Amino acid sequence: HAKGSGSNHFQLFRADMNELREQRSQIELQLHWALKEKALFLEFQPRIDIANGYLCSTEALVRWRNPALGLLQPSTFLPVAEACGLIRPIGHWVLCEACHQLQRWREQGLEIVPIAVNMSAMELRDRSLPARITEMLSETRLDAHFLEVEVTESSLMYHQDEAVIATLVELNNLGIRIAIDDFGAGSESLKRLKCFPINTINIAPCFVHDMLESLENLNFIKALINFGQGLALRVIAKGVEAQAQLDHLILQGCDGAQGFLFSKPLSANDYQALLVAGDFRLKHSAAAPGNIL
Ligand code: C2E
Ligand code: MG
Ligand code: MG
Repeated sequence: HAKGSGSNHFQLFRADMNELREQRSQIELQLHWALKEKALFLEFQPRIDIANGYLCSTEALVRWRNPALGLLQPSTFLPVAEACGLIRPIGHWVLCEACHQLQRWREQGLEIVPIAVNMSAMELRDRSLPARITEMLSETRLDAHFLEVEVTESSLMYHQDEAVIATLVELNNLGIRIAIDDFGAGSESLKRLKCFPINTINIAPCFVHDMLESLENLNFIKALINFGQGLALRVIAKGVEAQAQLDHLILQGCDGAQGFLFSKPLSANDYQALLVAGDFRLKHSAAAPGNIL
């Protein structure tokens, strides 16, 4: 009977949860220890500049040599570290180690390239980060351009807040490059886009509305158009209200446009009248040669 089996499931669930919690607190305890005993270490993965084939940077990736469990990958222990607040001391260690390693290589007379360090957005919430990085850089006599911070799109979206943005702006002002890691994978809509048979993307009116307010906004529209067309999709801009917007959309090769510039939504009768008059196209091709309607 339903009631009994329901409560059995609940008991099972509780047992699982307890076990999970137990495992986590074990990892948490051991992580504390690992930090103190220097059981963490970094691996370095080279990156190549495709234009010339040369090494252009390297990514620092943290690992944990666990006496009982062997070599642990970040995906097994970083989520625990995030949950229990250990991500900040770990992140601090990773940064220090990366900078000092770079300095050691340089002291050996090697030509060093920039190092990319992964960070959770949670670490970026810590407003002491820019000052700590400045200190590390001067300690190791490294120029800021030798450091690149990578933060995953999903982490940024999950921990979206003012402190994260303020820290990123400050790091950027120091001359540290910021990379969005795993771009596209943090956005469910982008991921799912791949599964659907799609012919067209319609750009949201909000993006068109402010497209001429800054170069960044304009470039964002350009990128959306390139994104769609790169996937062989038709790109339609919605919410076009100004001729100047249309001009730029035409310039960027946007496939179609819709908005108050052409017409408000019309009643069936008014729309019919427009069809009958047959001059809609003409009216706008005068202002914008290469009319896209
Ligand atoms: P990985 O070394 O297992 O690292 C997995 C993820 O953990 C990283 O993904 C990064 O988001 C996070 N992570 C690593 N170290 C740190 C750290 O010190 N702090 C923080 N907060 N997070 C860290 P990411 O950045 O995309 O790194 C690339 C991953 O892909 C690495 O996995 C790397 O080993 C792996 N990889 C590299 N080349 C290949 C390849 O050709 N094939 C496959 N399958 N994997 C590859
Ligand atoms: Mg990375
Ligand atoms: Mg990645």
